[in-house]
Amino acid sequence: MAESSTPLFNTFARAPLRFERGEGVWLYTEGGDKYLDFGAGVAVTSCGHSHPHLVETLKSQAEKVWHLSNLYEIPDQERLARRLTEATFADKVFFTNSGAEALECAIKTARRYHFSKGQPERFHIITFEGAFHGRTIATIAAGGQAKYLEGFGPKAEGFDQVPFGDLDALNAAITDKTAALLIEPIQGEGGIRVVPNEFLRELRKICDEKGLLLILDEVQSGVGRTGRFFAHEWAGVTPDIMAVAKGIGGGFPFGACLATEEAASGMVPGIHGTTYGGNPLAMAVGNAVLDVVLADGFLEQVRDVSLIFRQGLAALKDRFPDVIADVRGEGLMLGIKAVQPSGELLQALRQEHLLTVPAGDNVLRLLPPLTVTADEAREGLRRIEQAAEQLTAQSPAKAAHA
Ligand SMILES: *Cc1c(COP(=O)(O)O)cnc(C)c1O
Repeated sequence: MAESSTPLFNTFARAPLRFERGEGVWLYTEGGDKYLDFGAGVAVTSCGHSHPHLVETLKSQAEKVWHLSNLYEIPDQERLARRLTEATFADKVFFTNSGAEALECAIKTARRYHFSKGQPERFHIITFEGAFHGRTIATIAAGGQAKYLEGFGPKAEGFDQVPFGDLDALNAAITDKTAALLIEPIQGEGGIRVVPNEFLRELRKICDEKGLLLILDEVQSGVGRTGRFFAHEWAGVTPDIMAVAKGIGGGFPFGACLATEEAASGMVPGIHGTTYGGNPLAMAVGNAVLDVVLADGFLEQVRDVSLIFRQGLAALKDRFPDVIADVRGEGLMLGIKAVQPSGELLQALRQEHLLTVPAGDNVLRLLPPLTVTADEAREGLRRIEQAAEQLTAQSPAKAAHA
């Protein structure tokens, strides 16, 4: 564990696990051990590992052409953009390589909108405590978390933050310099904190009244994760701009910024660009992911399996109140708030060969592939039960009762 033993930057605390192969919801280590992958990267492998349609699509594209510059037309890029606009509020799409870049594009689009309307002073964006929008210089400023900002020089200007769910604070923070509101419909990294539908509707209303743009970060909550194509559909409101990534690539790295025609009106030729964004390999896979996620009945299946999780987790919470404090989330974007430090639950689950993802607020995220079956969900619940039994046997409350 010596820090110098790896040539890699020491930025990640890695678990000593080496996976060599994946299939559906399963990951296999070099030694042949089998793990149930309820992290899916972090909500990335939306169609599971080695989905035959995705594998076939990537292979066949690899034999045609890997890369084309955006100096030329890329038919699969246009096709994917058209499918995204037909299935959402958006009219326009810009493809990126990551979530943070999708947010960068969203931020630039909002600022340019007001600039192009003759109000360049309107560049401030209001965000919410607990947010996570990426790790670039602008997106750490947007996220506003001290632990990610520390040591990187002055925080980028133009990001104002208010407490989560606090409408009064929000209204007080809006000035004639405000360009947009930026929010995740469900905070992922912040601990699966669901923004109530009512609150999202209120944000839409405020934006309409004050001429602000509503930017949604659906990098984690999008592309079927909550049982709708995008999470904001549950609230019946639409944003002006939206950042997407993670699940849309099914494991191939790419993202997208979606916008209405009006919101994107300041993004004129030459004003923004990317070398790799919209690359043919990424676009082929993105189209294949949509073949899966937008197929008839797919999102309904996500909602059905979600119910199995919700019921099973609620029962486990009742049985193990000294282990599970709360269960929350939507669809297959679920969080278990632990009573003890969540790292202990994560370890206990890993011992049961179940992979989860840590988050803020002492929460573990369950983000299985959207293709998870009812039986695989029950298998996961059985493993959570076993881990909870282990932990409850060690818990101080239990010892005191005994
Ligand atoms: C992961 C994530 C990002 C950043 O995406 P990267 O691809 O890591 O840059 C931004 N916003 C949310 C909500 C995320 O979950």
